[in-house]
Amino acid sequence: MIRFPDIRDAKCYYCGVQASSGSMNQEWEQKARGERFHFACLKCLEIYGQLFQQRLEGISSTCPAQEQMQLMSLAVQETDMKVRAMANAT
Ligand SMILES: [Zn+2]
Repeated sequence: MIRFPDIRDAKCYYCGVQASSGSMNQEWEQKARGERFHFACLKCLEIYGQLFQQRLEGISSTCPAQEQMQLMSLAVQETDMKVRAMANAT
């Protein structure tokens, strides 16, 4: 069984401050991030949520599952980059 890391030791994936939220990466997220767990602060999570939602709207739900997994993974990758850029710009 995988032990969930202590959030007190975790840093935000995007801006590096103390993380306030942690979760297991989904299969497509792990593919994009190369990490089992994902930690973030509230500010970055909020930005991520908004951007990812917008990005998802461009993905057709009618395409094959395999293809969708790749598109989702790409969406995570692109959104992560944007969030990191925004987090470090302020
Ligand atoms: Zn952050």
